[in-house]
Amino acid sequence: MKPPSPPDPSLLSLNTATVRAQWTMPQIVDALVRHGIRGIAPWRDQVAQAGLMDTARRIRDAGLAVTCYCRGGMFTATDAAGLRAARDDNRRAVDEALALGARCLVLVVGGLPKDSKGAPASRDLGGARGMVRDGIGALLDYAKPAGMPLAIEPLHPMFAADRACVNTLAQANDLCDELAPGEGPALGVIVDVYHVWWDPCLEREIARAGAAQRLLDYHLCDWLVPTKDMLNDRGMMGDGVIELARIRGWMEAAGYRGAHEVEIFSERWWKVPGDDVLATCKARYAGAC
Ligand code: ZN
Repeated sequence: MKPPSPPDPSLLSLNTATVRAQWTMPQIVDALVRHGIRGIAPWRDQVAQAGLMDTARRIRDAGLAVTCYCRGGMFTATDAAGLRAARDDNRRAVDEALALGARCLVLVVGGLPKDSKGAPASRDLGGARGMVRDGIGALLDYAKPAGMPLAIEPLHPMFAADRACVNTLAQANDLCDELAPGEGPALGVIVDVYHVWWDPCLEREIARAGAAQRLLDYHLCDWLVPTKDMLNDRGMMGDGVIELARIRGWMEAAGYRGAHEVEIFSERWWKVPGDDVLATCKARYAGAC
């Protein structure tokens, strides 16, 4: 497939984790306006710190699109009380996403259940995946009537034990088929290039999600070689090995017209002044995505 034309600047969005070390939520909103970036994807902890209603007002006044809300999920637990706590917390996340006017709530589904010290309490990966399926199904009963789409984000398999046991786009698509057949976009997926770029079935599964109206968001960064920290060493677009333009071409061919959201967890970029990070994001988005 020939590389698509340059991406539409009006689709660029910033996931607030990218500048979490530099700025508070009000400062991030101001910076996005200053840089002409039209979308924002806030994290719950940053919103809680700034206040939900204050953040919602600032985002509304700035005219920003809330391209997703990060995040719900973590559906696995060792006992009924843990599962209930997860259910309640996820319902709060849906309520917050509604208050912010988010397009969807991201679900990072959880890995193996953990004990009270955070250590794995089980090796039953199949059981964990069952809890995830049940948890998403139950949350859908709450989110769908409220009008908040749920977006399953498959995470790279290196996170299967501790963060998410949904690890490929095929697995996420299968869950959508099982829990909400024909109901995209009430339940959909997020394509985060960091997590799925390596997948030999990626083009096919993007097309499958697109045909079912399930492509809810698209997350951008790059894969550095070597990657020194699996969580906090994501690369700036253009600095790694992901064929970003090709994957965007697959998204567009699948009918995706939503946001292109930069999400870079990086000890390196967290040390750079926020305005320089945003200027670099814009330049790389135009030239390397
Ligand atoms: Zn992501």
